[in-house]
Amino acid sequence: KQPLIEVKNLKTYFPIKKGLLGRTVNHVKAVDGLNFTIYKGETLGLVGESGCGKSTTGRSILQLLKPTEGEVLYEGQNLVDMNPRQLRKLRKDLQMVFQDPYASLDPRLTVGDIIAEPLQIHGMVSGAEKDRRVEELLNVVGLSSYHAKRYAHEFSGGQRQRIGIARALALNPKLIVADEPVSALDVSIQSQVINLMQDLQEQFQLTYLFIAHDLSVVKHISDRIGVMYLGRIVELGDKQELFENPKHPYTKALLSAVPVPNPLVKRERIVLQGDVPSPANPPSGCTFHPRCRECMAICRTEKPELKEVNGQFVACHLYN
Ligand code: SF4
Ligand code: MG
Repeated sequence: KQPLIEVKNLKTYFPIKKGLLGRTVNHVKAVDGLNFTIYKGETLGLVGESGCGKSTTGRSILQLLKPTEGEVLYEGQNLVDMNPRQLRKLRKDLQMVFQDPYASLDPRLTVGDIIAEPLQIHGMVSGAEKDRRVEELLNVVGLSSYHAKRYAHEFSGGQRQRIGIARALALNPKLIVADEPVSALDVSIQSQVINLMQDLQEQFQLTYLFIAHDLSVVKHISDRIGVMYLGRIVELGDKQELFENPKHPYTKALLSAVPVPNPLVKRERIVLQGDVPSPANPPSGCTFHPRCRECMAICRTEKPELKEVNGQFVACHLYN
């Protein structure tokens, strides 16, 4: 396994300003110290409730948001230190598919122009070559050249997401960060888009960071899964192991909400108490402690680090 992306102590904070002079009074710690690797050719699923920092993580890796601290190594080069000109060169390798195919496609452009736009920005095609490449990309995502002259609003949600994927593929990327790519779609369409993404991964040797708020969405496509809570990863590891033998109490709670295919298997539903606390004022110690059924005295004061436990990574004092 070769690393494609190595994330080291990544922090992305947003200032909270107050008053006429815009004095910074606090920070939202959206991403608060992440360490993980994305290996070449894998799909790493990233899950957690909304507001846990998943999207900020994806955007910080791609440098669409500037991290406050830490490193993002892409094939060994630190993206965080790069100037815009250096980043532009790597931009084509690192693409994003957005959650909302309704909002992310420009309504004034034809689908052909939407897909060709990144090619033109990077000066990669001209004239007839452009039309040929657009047709190729449309075919690859299950649409046809006939769709190129139409506008995004003429398509269904699933088709729009295919257009978003075609656009992301235009520059032959190495990594695609897919930020909840199926969350806005009907359940019946979700698996079609996920299957398409899996086919494309094989065809083009893509690496995915696949973000979702629901474990059942990433179950099929992921090789490994990371679970986030309040800007940190609380558990990370092999998908099968995570589903069969979850370690962190938060993972257990999330998993208890996933329907079990076999009706004879009874799994206790763990209902999380209270809301996710504000990332501007995270609880002391283990930030999950106010909602944890297994909370101990140490949990209120000491932040557990992500440590290896039987090949998986978990941040919890139960595993010391
Ligand atoms: Fe629960 Fe303590 Fe583990 Fe946090 S560290 S998840 S509070 S047992
Ligand atoms: Mg999000």
